[in-house]
Amino acid sequence: MNVAEEVRDLLGEIRRQLLYREEIGLDAPYVSPEVHSYLKAGIQPERPSAGENPRCKSLDELKLLVDSCDRCKLSKTRKSIVFGEGPDNAKLVFVGEAPGVEEDLAGRPFVGAAGKLLNDIIRAMGLDRKDVYICNVVKCHPPRNRDPEHDEIDRCLPFLRAQLSLIKPEVICTIGRVSAQSLISKDFKITRDRGQWYTFMDIPVMPTYHPAYLLRYPQAKRQVWDDVQEIMKTMGLANPRRLKN
Ligand code: URA
Repeated sequence: MNVAEEVRDLLGEIRRQLLYREEIGLDAPYVSPEVHSYLKAGIQPERPSAGENPRCKSLDELKLLVDSCDRCKLSKTRKSIVFGEGPDNAKLVFVGEAPGVEEDLAGRPFVGAAGKLLNDIIRAMGLDRKDVYICNVVKCHPPRNRDPEHDEIDRCLPFLRAQLSLIKPEVICTIGRVSAQSLISKDFKITRDRGQWYTFMDIPVMPTYHPAYLLRYPQAKRQVWDDVQEIMKTMGLANPRRLKN
């Protein structure tokens, strides 16, 4: 590749990132109005065909965008950004609320005590953690494990939307109150409203209790089991094993 081709590809990439950031509601880096219209018009001879999708093409590409995020105050205190993990074509996505202390240190979702219980739930469904995608509404650890605040959720939600539009799962399972309130309704009450189907981005959503809640109230495992059986029925998963009390 010669220098001119390299520069042209680089400009194409900048253009794609600019359009993508605008589309998912992120602030784009400041460029003058002239440069903005130039970039938006497309760089010759790589003008995209009508209908070309400027989104990130993969979760890896999206992760690079998220990795430099400073959109909310959690960026000042986090140790790592917990993007999420799992196959990029997972049929089932679990969405928790935000990374805890251990997840912040590890850079991975659900690795602490609640994560071990989530692994048990996944195994009881006849699946393995490697088969599903696991992430959170908020990608950075809120100090002292407090609930994520509304502005933090609003600033981070575009990333979850982008993840889901790339993965295109058959089912989302929200775990805990915060993720159900973020994806379903601000008025969602977990004790009253869990265990029923809702939708988010046209994807069926089953809300259930958070495994951290099950650690405190093991008697609620029965309801979580009912909820995951609903998911298994919808996904055509057979021969479930029961969750041990
Ligand atoms: N709780 C969550 O909601 N998410 C994690 O990743 C860990 C604990």
